[in-house]
Amino acid sequence: MRLAQRIKGLTGGGSDGWDVYYKANAMDAAGHDITHLTIGEHDIGTDRSILDAMHDATLAGITGYSAFNGIKGLRERVAARVTERTGVPTTPDNVLVVPGGQAGLFTAHHAACDEGDTALFIDPYYATYPGTIRGVGARPHAIEARPERAFQPDPAEVAEAAPGARSLLINTPNNPTGVNYTRETLDGLADVCRAHDLWMISDEVYDTQVWDGDHITPRSLEGMADRTLVIGSLSKSHAMTGSRIGWVVGPEKAITHMSNLATHTTYGVAGFIQEAACFALDQGPEFEAKIAEPFERRRDLVLGLLKGQDVVRPIPAAGAMYVMLDIRATGLSGEDFALRLLDQHHVAVMPGESFGKAAAGHVRAALTVEDSRLEAALRQLLETAQSLVAPATV
Ligand code: PMP
Repeated sequence: MRLAQRIKGLTGGGSDGWDVYYKANAMDAAGHDITHLTIGEHDIGTDRSILDAMHDATLAGITGYSAFNGIKGLRERVAARVTERTGVPTTPDNVLVVPGGQAGLFTAHHAACDEGDTALFIDPYYATYPGTIRGVGARPHAIEARPERAFQPDPAEVAEAAPGARSLLINTPNNPTGVNYTRETLDGLADVCRAHDLWMISDEVYDTQVWDGDHITPRSLEGMADRTLVIGSLSKSHAMTGSRIGWVVGPEKAITHMSNLATHTTYGVAGFIQEAACFALDQGPEFEAKIAEPFERRRDLVLGLLKGQDVVRPIPAAGAMYVMLDIRATGLSGEDFALRLLDQHHVAVMPGESFGKAAAGHVRAALTVEDSRLEAALRQLLETAQSLVAPATV
């Protein structure tokens, strides 16, 4: 039977960039002891207290259909949190609850783009972005943020690509680079959106994991609240990846239309998960800081360990749960280096090429294993890199 091009083309036809990840999992299944520094998943599970809240909600009978756009209590809490964190007045009518940030990205692009429209995004990018854009029938157009600019996008280059486009997707703090966009960068990008009438789709799933500088949402910049769709999630901030709970915040009219998409696709998020999300948000910023703390500590550990040599050069991550490492001195691509490291030392990292073109010759290490194991893995990574360069340059 013929399959639609839209579903066949989701991954763009080539490799989806996850080959090293799949290989590491296969080696794991075959009994090898693999250190997984690949995906952004905490090494702790969801807190027991949140699970208790979820359990209590099921026993209280919250197991039927739930409000497909999100229960009022959750939309209220998200609105209050966003207002407090960003200073932008936000009401429950500005909030749509969705099954995770990924669903939020899809929903936001559905709202911004018609069939065949161009949707801009920044490379390096979270691996699903181009497929998400293709999934709504739009055309992904990447703009590179290069290592020479410390992976901050150049608004002038975005402006060149902007005529005729419908949306610009950004992510700060950034996966995969760990870079936190500066006010200057964000002001420049906001100017481009206003000048070319673009939606700004702002992926802020790492907003509680900021080590250097502040997290600035473009929604708070002048004239941006009515053209910005913010994607939020409890996956990273509350270690709730498996609960699939997140939101889109945006102008009321856009949220109303996006709610219709929920009716026709997911029919909302399970009520007991939404109740648990309310409980999780009620734990406040201290709880969020506790979840984030290991990643800052491990970022410091990695930067400390890589001091005093220039074979493996870390991009100084300012947030999120990753460190991007420049291994161009080895002469290998990120992918070849990652495969060698996996074969030699059973350490799995993501090749920079999995995230587009701009991070070629880099690898991304997720800071998601316990400190001593991370340290051992980084030493092995350094050893692998140093063995590849001529002694004079070490
Ligand atoms: N955006 C970014 C940048 C991510 O890294 C992730 C998950 N790794 C997501 C969105 C999706 O997160 P979730 O669907 O779990 O909320």
